[in-house]
Amino acid sequence: ATMPPLLSAIANAGRHGVLVKSAVVMERLGQVDTVALDKTGTLTEGTPRVTDIRPLAGSHLTEEELLALAAAAEHPSEHPLARAVVDAARTRGLALTTAEDFTSTPGIGVTATVDGRAVAVGAPARLLNDADDAMSAWATTVAGDLEDDGGTAVLVEADGVPVGVLGIADRLRPDAAATVAALTALTGAAPVLVTGDNPCAAARLAAEVGIADVRAGLLPQDKVTAVKEQEQAGRKVLVIGDGVNDAPALAAAHTGIAMGRAGSDLALETADAVIVRDELATVPAVVALSRRARGLVV
Ligand code: ADP
Ligand code: MG
Repeated sequence: ATMPPLLSAIANAGRHGVLVKSAVVMERLGQVDTVALDKTGTLTEGTPRVTDIRPLAGSHLTEEELLALAAAAEHPSEHPLARAVVDAARTRGLALTTAEDFTSTPGIGVTATVDGRAVAVGAPARLLNDADDAMSAWATTVAGDLEDDGGTAVLVEADGVPVGVLGIADRLRPDAAATVAALTALTGAAPVLVTGDNPCAAARLAAEVGIADVRAGLLPQDKVTAVKEQEQAGRKVLVIGDGVNDAPALAAAHTGIAMGRAGSDLALETADAVIVRDELATVPAVVALSRRARGLVV
């Protein structure tokens, strides 16, 4: 028997490095008319590096003590920012204490007990709810400076008091801008950036890749809302993401694609398709394959 077009397309997608989970998904890929992309780990490489270590005056911590505290708390996390913090501590040869009572909140950060201290590491805007004390005000200023430089600022708190800020930066994927351009041409619609990161880092990266519609500071559920808004307006949205924080949006979208290499297990399981070869440019290729299989001119 000759292979049905959608099955041939799945085999073809596999050769391009994309695992499409079913013929239904292969068909839906060609129907998408709007694309929503995550930032960290999707448009960026997902291997961020710590660029700045800033203990706050009054914390009585050295740079190395601050980094070791944060790394101990982040050790159990699979978030790219957590891996950056742990790698930075390892590179400096710092010994990490084993954290207890680890908790992780997607889009916000982590908490753990380290050497008897309650440590929180995460988004400054989420952790600093009352910036009226001196330490919080200072932390806000330092975080703002790092974000103005286009980085992601991560706040470290010990026993409820801000003790330092880490600056973390990630590289844009080499094929990010070309992929955004190709998807814009294929769908005829402006792509949307949906990110939990700060508006400053988000706007800077969006400008570099050619995205005008930027939604920053989003919690996982806010990403779902952004997708549903579009779908209620009659759009068929393709979500591309990598994190635990992207899983609800990947599930809510018309079609969801996860980044395979550094993607979280939850994202890979939830998504309809997985980019196995670590290239974003495979996405427009499989959308085109789907349209061809459905007999549509690309
Ligand atoms: P994105 O949507 O760009 O992939 P996330 O939703 O994963 O970003 O994270 C949003 C923000 O939440 C990060 O920029 C960071 O400030 C904070 N955050 C989330 N998880 C962690 C973590 N494990 N360590 C430090 N910060 C975190
Ligand atoms: Mg991400």
